[in-house]
This record gives sequence, structure tokens and C-alpha cells, in this order.
Amino acid sequence: MCGIVGVSNHRDAAKIIFLSLYALQHRGEEACGIVSYDGKKIYAEKTTGLVADSFDERSVAHLKGSFAVGHTRYSTTGSSSAKNIQPFLATHKGRPIAIAHNGNLTNTEFLSEQLEDGGSIFQTTMDSEMIVHLLAKTKNGDLKSWMTEALCQLKGSYSLVFLVGDVLIGARDPFGFRPLCLGMINDAYILASETCAFDLVGARFVREIEPGEIVFIKSGRIESSFLPLGNKKCKAQCVFENIYFARPDSHIFHDNVYSVRKRLGAQLAKEHPVKKADFVMAIPDSGSYAALGYAQASGLPLEIGMIRNHYIGRTFIQPAQFLRDFRVRVKLNPIRDILKGKKIVVVEDSIVRGTTSRSRVEELRKAGVKEIHFRVSCPPIRFPCFYGIDFPSKKELVASKKSIKETARFIQVDSLKYLSLSGMLSVMKNSQQFCHACFDGHYPEVVPQKAGKYLLEKGCK
Ligand code: 5GP
Ligand code: MG
Repeated sequence: MCGIVGVSNHRDAAKIIFLSLYALQHRGEEACGIVSYDGKKIYAEKTTGLVADSFDERSVAHLKGSFAVGHTRYSTTGSSSAKNIQPFLATHKGRPIAIAHNGNLTNTEFLSEQLEDGGSIFQTTMDSEMIVHLLAKTKNGDLKSWMTEALCQLKGSYSLVFLVGDVLIGARDPFGFRPLCLGMINDAYILASETCAFDLVGARFVREIEPGEIVFIKSGRIESSFLPLGNKKCKAQCVFENIYFARPDSHIFHDNVYSVRKRLGAQLAKEHPVKKADFVMAIPDSGSYAALGYAQASGLPLEIGMIRNHYIGRTFIQPAQFLRDFRVRVKLNPIRDILKGKKIVVVEDSIVRGTTSRSRVEELRKAGVKEIHFRVSCPPIRFPCFYGIDFPSKKELVASKKSIKETARFIQVDSLKYLSLSGMLSVMKNSQQFCHACFDGHYPEVVPQKAGKYLLEKGCK
């Protein structure tokens, strides 16, 4: 996962990137960076940590020029070291290139072997660096054919924002796994992972970049071209963006994320009602929207049974398991007075490793809850994701090791029910255009055997 953004032709380009990264912070809390260009020189600021802690007025003022790209990092490939912070910078034939990547390439092993045999030396362990090497190796015709030829060699997921000199380029892989949106601030173009970035900087949402599309933005004009599709005729947008990852105030994949989550909750209530419960509550914050949908559809009242501490970040960000457990406990605290003696429906957006649910249920029991009926707004996650969501290995997924009954026992609930795959898809617009391989193992392309192993070796959890 990652958040990416690019701006062309705006005198406050770096400021806009900074604010946009603020809005995209949820897509990666590990590191962030901004690169700008003033027509002559490249300026870069990259550091580990949150956007708000990493930049101030002085560092943003240092980023001169009216072209800029930015990135917030959540590593799935490549280690967390400083050299892996994006945007990745290079110079090719006197032209500066800055690249920000969201997604995960699946043919990196093949590509790196090929590139290293051809003399490439890598500076980082990021799959994103390969894109720059491919560009360097590709015959340099006009910008369009140059980009097309290089991007055609990639497999897996990528939404990309590039600066090549004063040209801002946006690209989305032919399956369209990750989102990428186009907006305008007066007559300046902006590209960002999600539209919540546009709202913050006063940009007007124009449209989404299409799967397989490349846009070239120069001097206030935009040109679009498409990668040859080959056998990739279907779209495979990541359904998990809608379930968990994207911000609810964003509009991605032609829908509003908040509304999708509420519809998931309503569908869950239809499939798995609970008779005579006292109320519905969410595991906050991410479960809140599905819980609201569940409550409205079932007619049960909604209570906020747990308070989230807003001063800590997302629980997956910490790599060590013991820290993850600790952070879950700090993060959410139950309100004993409303919970004691009650029969409740608890709605969660997803169960991945089971850490959050198990520890929250334990707290709810301590608070005196009598019956817990746990409802999950997506099906059991049984298969790893090779396209950028942070569950690359099967052995971490509780649903791939345990049956639903065993999971219910593990998290200690009275009943556990998941939304069905067909129910989940029934509430999505253009449901045939989503990747749901993490639920059913049907990957949209043949994933190289070694992709999973490679991800793990590269320091991925
Ligand atoms: P678990 O505790 O079962 O491992 O994870 C489920 C919880 O983590 C849910 O509350 C869900 O909202 C959240 N979650 C699901 N997927 C991800 C992810 O990829 N990253 C982060 N940070 N949290 C996730
Ligand atoms: Mg959550």
C-alpha cells in the first residue's frame, strides 16, 4: 500500500503535495517524501515518519518549482530502510525522473535477473526501482512509446505518478488494482490515489485514470493513451480498498467508499441477523460504517461501545507481533456502563490475523458483556495478496488455518458470521470488475510461483 500524488503547473506545487499527503496518510505511515522540479533543478525531501512530523513550512519552502510528486510509504516489498523512501529519483539523458509507486509488482524476480544480467545495479530493494531501470533500457523514442514499452513489461499492480522533466505522467496497470484519480485546481492538474486529497486542497475531481491508461500532462494540456491489453481484458480493482483500505470520504472505483461500506453492513444484516440483541456496535474506526449499515437495516440501535484513542496509528504498521498486540490494547477501550449484561452484535470490517478481534472480545467480556455475536463485513480472508495489501503469506491468515467454528472459539464469541462472497459483490457497482482473490484464491493473472516467497525474502511481513 502507499499514497501517491502529483501536481503540474502550480506555483505552490510542493505545498499542495504536502497537504495531499496529509489526506493520504492512512495509506502509509512508515515514511514519506516530496520531490519538486523548477525547470532546472530537482529538490527532494524524504524521511521516515508521519507527514505532519516530517515537513514544516521551511522544508516545504525549500521544495521549489511548479511540478512535484509525493509518496507516503507502507512497505509490502523492500525493507523499511531510508534508501527505500519514495519518490525514487534518477537522471536519464539529462532529464530528471521522479517516480512514486503504489502497488506490488509480481515479476520482479524475473525482471531483476534480466536487468542485472544486462548490467543494472540496484540502489534499493524496492520493486519500484525496476521501473526506472526498464525505462533506462528501453529505446528512447517519443515519451508515449517509451513509457508504453517500459510499462508493458511489468506484471502485478501499479498506480504510478512520474515526473519526467516538466511532464507529469500518471499510469494505472491494465487490471486497475489500485485507484488513481485526476483533479484540477483552477487550470493546474493533480493526480492522487484518492479523492479525499482533492477535497483538502480545493481541487475539483475530474475522473479516475482508467485501468491500462497513461496520461501525459504538460503545459496545462493532458493527453491520454492506453497500454495494449493483451489477455488482460478484465478489470481487477481491489475489493479490499472498499472494505478497509481507502478513506470513506473518497470516491474510487466509481463509487463512494462510505456508501459501499454501509451497503456491506446492510447486506450482512440481511444474511446474518441476530434476534433480540440489545444493540449493534462496531470495532472502531474501520468497522463503524458497516456497523451503521447493519443497524439501520436490522432496526437495532447502534451504540459506540468502544472509544478509540486517536493518538496512535494503524495497528498493522508495527512489524513485531508483540507490539501489535500492545497497540491494539492501547487503541480501543470499552465503555463498561453500557456493555454490562448486554447481548450485542459486534461488527468488524475484516478479520485478518485475528489479533484485533480476539483482544477486543476479551476486553468486552471483562466489561461484562453477556453475549457477543460477531459479524464481519467481508468473507474469510484465506489467500495471500500479491498486489499490495499487507497479507502476503497464508500462514498469517487465521481463516486459512482455522475453520469458522474454530475461529469463533479462538476469538471467544458466541457466534461468528461472515458476509458471503456473492453478498459482498452484490453491493459493488460493476461487481465483475473486482479482484477478490484473497477470499477465493482466483487471482486475475497467473502469479509467478516465486512471487510470495520473493515478497517474504524481501523483508515483507
Ligand atoms: P486482525 O487483527 O484480524 O489481524 O486485523 C483485522 C483488523 O485490522 C480490522 O480491524 C481491520 O480494520 C484492520 N485491517 C485489515 N486489513 C488491514 C491492513 O492491511 N492494514 C491495517 N493497518 N489494518 C488492517
Ligand atoms: Mg479495524
